Amino acid sequence: MEHMARKPLIAGNWKMNETIGEAVVLAQEISNEMEPDWLDAVAVAVCPPFTDLKPVYTVFEFDKLRVGVGAQNVYWEPSGAYTGEISIPMISAIGCAYCIVGHSERRQYFGETNEDVNRKVQALLADRTHPIDPIVCVGESLSVRESGDYITFVDAQVRAAFAGIDADVARAAIVAYEPIWAIGTGRTATPEQAQEVCSAIRETLGALFGQDVADEMRILYGGSMNEGNADLLLGQPDIDGGLIGGASLKASSFVQIVKAAL
Ligand code: PEP
Repeated sequence: MEHMARKPLIAGNWKMNETIGEAVVLAQEISNEMEPDWLDAVAVAVCPPFTDLKPVYTVFEFDKLRVGVGAQNVYWEPSGAYTGEISIPMISAIGCAYCIVGHSERRQYFGETNEDVNRKVQALLADRTHPIDPIVCVGESLSVRESGDYITFVDAQVRAAFAGIDADVARAAIVAYEPIWAIGTGRTATPEQAQEVCSAIRETLGALFGQDVADEMRILYGGSMNEGNADLLLGQPDIDGGLIGGASLKASSFVQIVKAAL
């Protein structure tokens, strides 16, 4: 389902799942079930844990299948005394093309702030020689949704994530609208609810970067997307793909979602 010039992106977020052997099996199953020419119409990526990035990359490379690999997080400094962190040059050197930034689980469990998210987005967009496109996650909690102020909340998250970033580099970024109440809950946003916020996000991007850049940027929906509901969600005018958690751990479900984006 193509929207103007925007090629849809279906990205799997494996979260903290799959040891190395399991990851290779899952990547191989995805590769086996995918038709290479689908990738002319839809971009596909998987985001496994750091320990699986290289082996998963190698599976797709060996099969000459243009499925991208992404990290789930990154640190903004290029190197140094930051025990336990992983840098952009490190994920770049093993072939990452994407990096999730500011996932709600990182904000909730690991204390990531809007300022941290902004530093990571800035650092990723600064290096365009080895381009890694940030997938910037935003989305409101159930209490914010019920307060009715969710558009204002998400608008502020987008503005904070992109603070100080120029339009000419911002266009490489991808925004994922992931209402927290829909993540891992089986409670998907309706297509209308998802479209409402994704369209508001595009308005914010337009205010920040101009309408041309906003019309180029991809906005994904994430939150209990599966093979049963993907079609209607992906059919919305401002939804340019999906960030898939649970359903990305089953090759057949993930590949069905990819098909729904064609
Ligand atoms: C996610 O964590 O990015 C996500 C969308 O998860 P799920 O599909 O499991 O709701």
